[in-house]
Amino acid sequence: MIDTHAHLTSRFGRKSGDIDGLEYVILAASSIDDSKENITLVKSDKRLLPSVGIHPQEINKEIDKQINSLEELLKKHKEIVAVGECGLEFVGEVDKNLQIKFFEKQIKLSLKYNKAIIVHSRKAIEETLEVLKKYQNLRGVIHCYSGGKKKIKNFLELGEDWFFGIDGNVTYESGLIEVVKNIPKDRLVLETDSPFLAPIPHRGEENKPAWIKNIYEKVVEIWGEEFKKTEKIIDDNAKRLFKII
Ligand SMILES: [Zn+2]
Repeated sequence: MIDTHAHLTSRFGRKSGDIDGLEYVILAASSIDDSKENITLVKSDKRLLPSVGIHPQEINKEIDKQINSLEELLKKHKEIVAVGECGLEFVGEVDKNLQIKFFEKQIKLSLKYNKAIIVHSRKAIEETLEVLKKYQNLRGVIHCYSGGKKKIKNFLELGEDWFFGIDGNVTYESGLIEVVKNIPKDRLVLETDSPFLAPIPHRGEENKPAWIKNIYEKVVEIWGEEFKKTEKIIDDNAKRLFKII
């Protein structure tokens, strides 16, 4: 099992046994500090793989300074597997243009350094698609996909290297079950988004990567396949996405 999206830096915290039973965990980043800490964290366990990126809620006016810091990390650390999470969150009073600028600069970095891109999109699915359509040869994941059944087709049209990230809410939101049924099996990856979005039977608790097992089990139920076969398909997808050999 692979958790393709977890936050384990100090501000989110780690718990004992939090990655038990997992082959890999991709450490998502939300800020430059998180990005740096991810790079340090992975030294402690070879199952951890770092991402670097700036979340739309963490952006500020110093765009060049932030993007340069990100690029410095990408230049220096070959172990980085992805840029993100980055993207658009059009909730409340936000500077949409600034968010789009940060998003596009991070897309360009992912292309330049041949890394996957982890896309965060909240209340901005159309705008996210519009930005992504401008770029060719991207390899990435729509993190915590919330575009509904109808938008799956549009993301598939972006190219063969696009994946859908499904989280613990699939264990309690029936609409997401329909979404999973409509995602091609070779395009699905699973993520906990720890410490958020704990799956049933841990709902309401602080989430941890090990609980990805509950999400795999939900997909076993939805697909009607055996656990081993389901696990193999999903893990192969994650390895293609992040180029894990
Ligand atoms: Zn996240």
